[in-house]
Amino acid sequence: MAKIEQEAKFTRETQLPLILSQTRNAVKAERMASLVRAIYLARDRRLERQVQLQVQAVAQGFPFDAGERVVAGSKRVAILAKEIASARQQARDSAAQNMSAFTFEERATTAYGEAIRTIDEMGKELSGDAALAADKLAQEIEAGAASTRYTVLAILLMPGLFCIGLLLLARRHLASPILSAIGNLRRISDNTPTVPIRSPPVLAELAMIGEAILSYGDVASELRRKNVVLQALAEEDPLTGLANRRTFETFLQAALTNTSRVGGTAVLLIDLDHFKSINDRYGHQVGDQCLQSLALMLLSHDSLPGSLAARYGGEEFVIVYSAESAEQALIDADFLCRRIEAMRIPLEEERSMTMTASIGVSFTSRNDVSEMKDIIARADKALYRAKSGGRNRAVSDRSGYSTNRQSKTGGDAMR
Ligand code: GH3
Ligand code: MG
Ligand code: MG
Repeated sequence: MAKIEQEAKFTRETQLPLILSQTRNAVKAERMASLVRAIYLARDRRLERQVQLQVQAVAQGFPFDAGERVVAGSKRVAILAKEIASARQQARDSAAQNMSAFTFEERATTAYGEAIRTIDEMGKELSGDAALAADKLAQEIEAGAASTRYTVLAILLMPGLFCIGLLLLARRHLASPILSAIGNLRRISDNTPTVPIRSPPVLAELAMIGEAILSYGDVASELRRKNVVLQALAEEDPLTGLANRRTFETFLQAALTNTSRVGGTAVLLIDLDHFKSINDRYGHQVGDQCLQSLALMLLSHDSLPGSLAARYGGEEFVIVYSAESAEQALIDADFLCRRIEAMRIPLEEERSMTMTASIGVSFTSRNDVSEMKDIIARADKALYRAKSGGRNRAVSDRSGYSTNRQSKTGGDAMR
């Protein structure tokens, strides 16, 4: 703004007065021309003298504000005006003495012609100077206007650029860290790995939030991992890898409420015969091996539909599945007895041993309304009858249903 004021002052105080003075000089030159014409046409000594003095006065007015050539021209015109007046006087004097005045008249005409040409040149000079000054003024005004336009444009653009800068800063230092924190929170909830912060945000609070989310992600994934382990521990038997008793009960409860099952639900309660004596004879480790081999066999025994094999406790196992009928369940249990009997548990020195199991079978048809603990109790009673009936057999909770074989548990199969 100071520049605009400066330029306005320069125009007002320097350029405009220059143009005005050139205009005034042009008027003076014009006046000189008419005065020279007046001398030339006067033909009266007094008038010539008066006009010549006026020409001199006008000529003296130039040196103050005109250019060098104009001043020189004006002086020359003043001399020529004097010469016209003197030639005219000499012509008049010659005529009075009856002499030829022609030479003097000719001198006056020549001086007049030169004076008019000089004034013409002065006029051209003055109009050139004025045009030059006006052109310069126009150029400077134009340049001033352009620079004013750019200044105004810059002033108008500045808030816009400032806002864009603010937005970019906000995006870089606010939006990006917040978005990356949200992304990490989503990853934590989707259970996918969090992404470390590449460039920490400038704002300490945001940096802290980002870091807190990352460590929360670490804690959450560690918790999940531990949860998986705990869940496995809660659902599985560590020695055999089978489902544990709790899982079995949950499964049985679900099976009883499942109305779409075929026929009903069978529970086979399997108890190894004379297992204590196996431990006593071969050692606890071999006992464990027997439990693991039986578990493996139960897992691979996949002919029973929708079955779950579990370790019920100690040397007792249980299978729950969808059976067509109580008779079929007893047949399945007897088949299982035979498979257990046929198993060979490897011992040292290429020896092996056999074992037998007794199975108590309970069957609950789809239409029965039975409590879970009653179903297990019925299987347990049937198992007791299988034991007391001589072991290595399956007995159903329905009276009269049983298989009958001799127990051979603990027998050496090969020597
Ligand atoms: P029965 O034919 O009447 O079932 O006789 P049993 O010897 O099998 O029954 P009893 O209840 O007298 O003995 C069960 C034994 O099972 C006692 C215990 O030491 C053993 N046992 C329980 N759990 C484990 C285990 O995890 N590993 C081993 N090696 N033995 C176990
Ligand atoms: Mg037992
Ligand atoms: Mg037993």
